[in-house]
Amino acid sequence: MKTDIVLGIDIGGTNTVFGFVDEKGKCVAESSIPTNSNEPADVLLKRLHLKVDELYSTVHETHKLVGIGIGAPNANYFKGTVELPPNLKWGIVNVLEIVKKYYDLPSAITNDANAAAIGEMQFGAAKGMKDFIVITLGTGLGSGIVVNGQLVYGADGFAGEIGHTIYDPEGRVCGCGRKGCLEAYVSASGIKRTVFEILSKTNEESEFRKFNFDELTSKMIYDAALRGDKIALEAFDTTGKVLGIKLADAVAHTSPEAIILFGGLALAGDLIFNPTKKYMEEFMLNIFRDKVKLLPSALPGGNAAVLGAAALIWNELKMI
Ligand SMILES: [Zn+2]
Repeated sequence: MKTDIVLGIDIGGTNTVFGFVDEKGKCVAESSIPTNSNEPADVLLKRLHLKVDELYSTVHETHKLVGIGIGAPNANYFKGTVELPPNLKWGIVNVLEIVKKYYDLPSAITNDANAAAIGEMQFGAAKGMKDFIVITLGTGLGSGIVVNGQLVYGADGFAGEIGHTIYDPEGRVCGCGRKGCLEAYVSASGIKRTVFEILSKTNEESEFRKFNFDELTSKMIYDAALRGDKIALEAFDTTGKVLGIKLADAVAHTSPEAIILFGGLALAGDLIFNPTKKYMEEFMLNIFRDKVKLLPSALPGGNAAVLGAAALIWNELKMI
């Protein structure tokens, strides 16, 4: 008898990663193609279809494809659309309609942070939890909010944009065009902006002074912090403070059992977890204090995004 698998697809600005995942969260085969951000969506999906078929031919004798889950930026779960994704020149596209041309199977799409949240619930750190929030820290800051075992999509399918709640109304300009969003502080570019802000306020010697903005990476800040560099450590403290304050707010909205930090900056471990936890508790309403766990993702790093997209459709299949 063949084992059921679903196809999990994570469409990113640079690469589109996909894989076949069984019900226990085991990824039996995985591959990727470049996204080519200037290409229209139907061209990407056609290329993807060919590669998926190629990969499926390596597992189809023992496995049967039963559904397709997709994580993509600005994806609308209700409509099946991707709408004005910031890093792709797509406009508004109905991705699920195109996918249906190739596969007559149950399929679902949501943004990558929501997919990560369902992934954590089925296969990762949120197993057995009904109320939690996943924060994805990468180029930007995404969030997936689960309440009473259900992902919150909201009235229009776009709920869970903690990254674009305001930390400082007079603060940094954000990619969304407004000022002071959390994402402008807590993200790969956010921590770089913090380093340059600290440098502008001191004459202290720093290895960072020889780099311009594009040359500096968040990895370099991490490496310097591990060596005890004062400015790098201060940048992590500031990042954790902004995140901690906004997470204390998020707790007041849904009273989660845990908040899970996923990807990118979250991999900095104690450097980001310690200040975030400290400031989150400091700014928390007293009835919630010392109750909310702050946890790292427990999805295997290499294919976490694929597992999240696969979990999205496994979740649907179980409800049918
Ligand atoms: Zn914003």
